[in-house]
Amino acid sequence: MDCLFCKILNKEIPADVIYEDDQVIAFNDINPQAPTHVLVIPRKHIATTNEIADEDTALVGHMVQVAGKIAKEQGFDESGYRTVFNCNDHGGQTVHHIHLHLLGGKPLGWPPY
Ligand code: 5GP
Repeated sequence: MDCLFCKILNKEIPADVIYEDDQVIAFNDINPQAPTHVLVIPRKHIATTNEIADEDTALVGHMVQVAGKIAKEQGFDESGYRTVFNCNDHGGQTVHHIHLHLLGGKPLGWPPY
C-alpha cells in the first residue's frame, strides 16, 4: 500500500517520533503551523474519518486522549490547544491515513479562513 504514514509506521521514512504504543504513534509535523504541531496516527490504516468503523471507536478515543497527554507534557493543556481531523478535499486532507493534528503553544485563530 502506497501510504506515507504507513511508511513512517514501518520506519521506511524517518520521523521525529515523540510517543508510541501498541495502537498509535505521534510525531512532529514536517511543516509546523504552531510552536507545537504533532500528528497522532493509528497503526491501523484507516483512509479517512468516513471509514472509522464501530470497532475503531476506542482507538479514535485513544488518539484524542494521547493528544491531551502530549499537550499536558508540553505544558499547554491549561492554556489550551486544538485537535483537528481533516477529511478529504474540502477538509484539506492530503495524507489518506487518518491523523489527529495537535496544535498548541500560542493563541490560535478561528475560524480557519
Ligand atoms: P492533512 O493536510 O492531511 O490534514 O495533514 C497532513 C500533514 O502531514 C501536514 O500537516 C503535513 O505537513 C504533514 N506531513 C506531510 N508529509 C510529512 C512527512 O513526510 N513527515 C511528517 N512528519 N509530516 C508530514
